[in-house]
Amino acid sequence: MAAGFAVRFSGLSETAVEGVVRWVKPAGDVFLRLLFMTVMPVLVSALSLGVAELGDIRRVGRVGLKTLGFTLFVSCAAVLTGILAVRVLNPSGGLPEADRLALLERFPVPASALAEETRGGGIVDALVKIVPKNPLEDMVRAFDPSYAGGGILAVIFFSFMLGIAMALAPPSKTAGLKACLEGLFESMMKLIDIGMRFAPFGVFALLFSLSATMGFSILAILSRYVAVVLAGLLFHLFITYSVLLSAFGRMRPGFFFRNTAELMLIAFSTSSSNATLPAALRTATDRLGLKQDVSRFVLTLGATANQNGTALYEGVTVLFLAGCFGVPLTLVQQATVILLCVLAGVGTAGVPGGSLPAVVMILAGIGVPAESMGIILGIDRLLDMSRTVVNVQGDLVAAAVVSRSS
Ligand code: ASP
Repeated sequence: MAAGFAVRFSGLSETAVEGVVRWVKPAGDVFLRLLFMTVMPVLVSALSLGVAELGDIRRVGRVGLKTLGFTLFVSCAAVLTGILAVRVLNPSGGLPEADRLALLERFPVPASALAEETRGGGIVDALVKIVPKNPLEDMVRAFDPSYAGGGILAVIFFSFMLGIAMALAPPSKTAGLKACLEGLFESMMKLIDIGMRFAPFGVFALLFSLSATMGFSILAILSRYVAVVLAGLLFHLFITYSVLLSAFGRMRPGFFFRNTAELMLIAFSTSSSNATLPAALRTATDRLGLKQDVSRFVLTLGATANQNGTALYEGVTVLFLAGCFGVPLTLVQQATVILLCVLAGVGTAGVPGGSLPAVVMILAGIGVPAESMGIILGIDRLLDMSRTVVNVQGDLVAAAVVSRSS
């Protein structure tokens, strides 16, 4: 960012600055594309496998149902907290009109998304299109703004139904497909990992071009965005979790936070729920005194499925970017955002940057250019570390509540 400002205010002519940016920007685009190319495979494999495993949860019985119900309830609360924080603090509000236009020029938003009415006709039409006629077509054209089909929502629907079908079909017949999807999922996780290694260069290029062309106003709105995400996460961590612990877990919040301080540090520094899982298992039994069988089940499932911090962050990010571009969100689209954030919280892998493909998916789902996430990638690591703390603590809260009631 500093390098970008230096070029902008170095006295070079506008054309010369543009020339420099043209050379640097491709590195950022390559980084974004590395992430984008994982979106469809991650979505189909993670969601169908996740739903198929829920079929197994049914067999685990009451503990499974309680965990699932609690996860969905608290994820909804997290997304609503995020949305409320954006509404109250309005992080994109201070963006000068000239900069908004500069952004629109850089990341063209389809005209239909900027219009007030729901895209592609009424609500009924939008709902009908969620059921795909040809899921492959929706996968291929999911990022195409001129496509009038269901797009990403249709792919989600298809993956969901595929998962249900896999859970119901005879296991001996579906084992091969499951193994194949698992292989695809694991490979995509590795690919995200490789992509993240390129992040320092990609992020440099993205932020450099942004600050060289837009100047200080981008810094101001980014700081407000970070403040809103952190405020939402802190609220969820200390207020929502404390209420849940006292009301349903019969555990004093002071006791809980004292005994999980070290765990929060591990989550913060690794930025990965999965990497924190072994330490979380130990903390649950040794320090919080939870039942071992219940906490093992809830925490293992929760490391991937219960990601409140991620759901909250996604809600804020999507509304923030929509606000930056002046894309008005209809009631249907706002409900879509909530649904997608909850689903994405369930489907996101507990690895660093695991939720980035989900953000792309949600942006595409509501007509905001997915490339615009380049604006926030530069500061994502800090937010990733912070949301992971909330994710891991959420798993422990779930374990405490389910353990007490079982
Ligand atoms: N890093 C997060 C986790 O492991 C996932 C994400 O939001 O990117 O919990």
